Amino acid sequence: MRELGPFSVLFFDMVDATISAYPRSPVDPATEKFTDQVNGDGTLTSDSFATNTTFYQSTTPRAVASNEQFIYDPSDYRFAEASIFVHINQMLVFYESLGYPGLDLKPLTVMLHATINNTKNNALYEPPTSSASGYPTILIGDGDGVVLQNLPLDGDVVSHEFGHHIIYRTLKETSGESLVIHEGLADYFTYAKQNDPCLGPSICVQGDENVCVVYGKCLRTGINTLHYGTSDFDQLEAHLQGQIIGGLLLDLSPQIDRLVVAKTMYNALAYLVYDSGIRDFLLALLLSDYKSGGNNTCYIYNAAIARGFGSLLADVDCTKPANIPVPNIADNSDLQTPTTSSSSGSSTKKKNIFGCSSAPLLPPSDSYPPWWLLFVLPLFPVLISLVRRRRHQHYK
Ligand SMILES: [Zn+2]
Repeated sequence: MRELGPFSVLFFDMVDATISAYPRSPVDPATEKFTDQVNGDGTLTSDSFATNTTFYQSTTPRAVASNEQFIYDPSDYRFAEASIFVHINQMLVFYESLGYPGLDLKPLTVMLHATINNTKNNALYEPPTSSASGYPTILIGDGDGVVLQNLPLDGDVVSHEFGHHIIYRTLKETSGESLVIHEGLADYFTYAKQNDPCLGPSICVQGDENVCVVYGKCLRTGINTLHYGTSDFDQLEAHLQGQIIGGLLLDLSPQIDRLVVAKTMYNALAYLVYDSGIRDFLLALLLSDYKSGGNNTCYIYNAAIARGFGSLLADVDCTKPANIPVPNIADNSDLQTPTTSSSSGSSTKKKNIFGCSSAPLLPPSDSYPPWWLLFVLPLFPVLISLVRRRRHQHYK
């Protein structure tokens, strides 16, 4: 057991914690033990992340382990918190491998057992400009076991929401085409990390065909044949439309290594601005490949054409990548270096980092605008029938 010195309370040393979780989700055959750094106060708090289990209607205690051994059985209420801490740290490592310099305003707080718009079947990302604490915040519901399940235990859920935090550094609009890109990329980076085009492999409830695109298996999928500009595509809501983003990026993998695509896409985020649309996304992807010295500009271009994006790229000649229109005049050079950590979270610093946000303040309750950065939106009956009828046409 680690001895706490007289100054440890004031000056936490980062120490290794042993934490149990499924490697990805309850679909895995067994839990494993993972090592992540914590600040040594006996809770799942690190330099980058913190958990919170007592807010609004939730009174579940936090996991506490003075010996930093957070080893729990999946039936233990503390296992959900341990799982989320492991999984979000895994995604941080993944994004750092793509070039992410680390969180600037931190810790990002993950709030468990959340009720969002009167349901436990959802998750949510709140940027620091909108959260009650002034820090980036992720809320995750438990799932009611009827509509969805295992939301805290399946790493794809917190991965998707953390993806919004990464993407939100440049793309801050949360409606229209910007929302489609947000949702699509939050899914895509999860696919890329997991090397699996199935989102949330453990969260679908067998027998419920109203929520998951691949019944009982995947909330959404990157393996699809969605085609931009078709009436079928136009009738989908943003999360489902976003599948064309992940689909396009996964289309590239036969030619380009999966992790090279992920890094190219990560670098492309720097070309986006607060309200970029799908044309901007496509130009950013092409430019990112060109700027990185890649030789895949025409391959990416042709993949985009095959997805129906030709009308958005009419002025692009992929054989002359130097002439690709720059999608905006964004100066995102600050993304290359992390801002010094600010545990005080001054309003001045927050404004400097996230000053472009036009997002409204969220009320301090469990009522959120329906278009916010949710994990999933309820499908209305007409949409359910549409997706069902055409499922075999669009999804494999
Ligand atoms: Zn989302």
